[in-house]
Amino acid sequence: MENYTYPTFDLTGKKALVTGGSKGIGLAIAAGLAHAGAEVLITGRNEAALREAAEGIKKQGHQIYWKSSDVTLKTEVEKLFEYIDQEFGQIDILVNNAGMNIRKPLVEVEEEDWDKVMGTNLKGIFLVGQQAAKRMIDQKSGRIINISSILGKIGSPLQTSYAASKGGIDQLTKVWAAELAEHDITVNSLAPAYIITPMTEPFLQDEERFEKIINRTMMKRMGRADEMIGPALFFASDASTYVTGQVLYIDGGWTAN
Ligand code: NDP
Repeated sequence: MENYTYPTFDLTGKKALVTGGSKGIGLAIAAGLAHAGAEVLITGRNEAALREAAEGIKKQGHQIYWKSSDVTLKTEVEKLFEYIDQEFGQIDILVNNAGMNIRKPLVEVEEEDWDKVMGTNLKGIFLVGQQAAKRMIDQKSGRIINISSILGKIGSPLQTSYAASKGGIDQLTKVWAAELAEHDITVNSLAPAYIITPMTEPFLQDEERFEKIINRTMMKRMGRADEMIGPALFFASDASTYVTGQVLYIDGGWTAN
């Protein structure tokens, strides 16, 4: 019998940063990491929403902290990492999740729309990822999980800037994985299809759109935010020590269709 190392999802003693952790997918992943034993710091722009989210997780007996920070602003990201260095401690796990979308046909996309979406989804990932990587290189360990989307892979109308940003994220994931592997840092993307969150709730009211989504999905339903927790734990924990540079689709079978 080999002397195997049996992995667990236990994150006791680990510290995690989840950007955009006040609601939706980020909140679910933050709660999941905290449930697995990590101390979790959530960020976003809305302080009241962050406080409420943190209180909810704390009530379950978990360790959770919050700090407002806009991922599009270098100065705010630098301040966030000053707080991390001085008060929160290290970052073992980064979930680069903050994101937004403006859906418009190509011919109607304004420069301002493009800048907003790219600023949040791509520049934001870069700014936060760069700061986290500097610390993880010093620690000689770390896990970076970038939240992209199936829209970074497939062609779908009305997604000019969003799809470009998400495709860019998956490419960043591969480049960072290549650069950071020697420091024992893994970098992977989680790419969801349609998950019910405040971002996608309006789709539920739009019957035609909802039908289209459901028909494209093998599992014939939208995903729940808590269905992102397992995949996040896989990349965050010892269950994935030899997995890096990958994009995992959490899409009810959409991209295999
Ligand atoms: P939500 O709109 O529900 O949540 C977005 C989170 O990001 C909020 O916490 C929001 O807080 C934060 N955020 C937005 N802009 C900024 C900013 N400039 N700085 C800091 N935080 C910010 O979205 P979802 O949970 O649905 O999406 C989470 C991620 O998953 C996104 O990257 C999204 O693109 C991706 N995704 C979602 C899918 C889905 O079906 N829901 C499908 C595919 C990908 P605040 O507004 O207070 O700043």
